[in-house]
Amino acid sequence: MNRIFVFLLAAFLLCGCAAPASPQPDSTQATVAPTVPTSIQTGLVNKDGKTYYINADGSYAKGKVVIDGIDHFFTKTGEEVLVVNPWHFVPYDYNPDLVTFYDFAQYADGNVLDKTCIDPLLKMLEDCQNAGYNVRIVSSYRRQVTQETLYNNKVDYFLNQGYDIKKAREEAGKIIAVPGTSEHQLGLAVDLIDSSYPYLDEGQEKTPAQKWLMEHCWDYGFILRYPNGKTESTGIIYEPWHYRYVGKELAKELQNSGLCLEEYLETLK
Ligand SMILES: [Zn+2]
Repeated sequence: MNRIFVFLLAAFLLCGCAAPASPQPDSTQATVAPTVPTSIQTGLVNKDGKTYYINADGSYAKGKVVIDGIDHFFTKTGEEVLVVNPWHFVPYDYNPDLVTFYDFAQYADGNVLDKTCIDPLLKMLEDCQNAGYNVRIVSSYRRQVTQETLYNNKVDYFLNQGYDIKKAREEAGKIIAVPGTSEHQLGLAVDLIDSSYPYLDEGQEKTPAQKWLMEHCWDYGFILRYPNGKTESTGIIYEPWHYRYVGKELAKELQNSGLCLEEYLETLK
């Protein structure tokens, strides 16, 4: 009896491990589409190097989604876009694919940027030069420690002007992003100037190179990240030199909407 029981049990278990046998086609019956149980993968998913968030109903999330207490942002087509501003820090596990490039000799002595934006930037700068303008990169990727130094120097500047420490930090933060909240830490932002005007002030907007960049940057996937009159949304003063790579699709959306990144993402639901 025991032997028969063990044999039956083994046969049962083996059947359980194998894939269910396909039903043999029966030519006497009409073909009916099999009912395949579908399971939707929800949450954050990576596809072709991009990150998406799939809702419970299978749709792609757009706009802001809070995941584990942290705000994430997604474009109209569902791709995640990193938003870094005074209210959103660089993600603690962010790991840019940094590349040091020296073939920009005519633009800078060497820079470090995330790999994804190097080719579009090179193309934009070449076209700008070919259009007859002289452009230079003055800032690209920054490490946390570099951002801390820049920020502390700016705080010192305001302290020397007679501000108290709270006010000095507040004013410094509008000009130099608080460490951990600078887009330069993403490796996706560059400060570009017209070589004939080596100052980071509003005078940049009147220079020929800057006019060309503002008009064409979106065509290469870049945006002027801190436009005039948008400080309340971006948290940063008008900077007609700071360009952020967001990809062609989003850059075009932003260009057409006339909104800054924060405002635009707010409109997506
Ligand atoms: Zn900048």
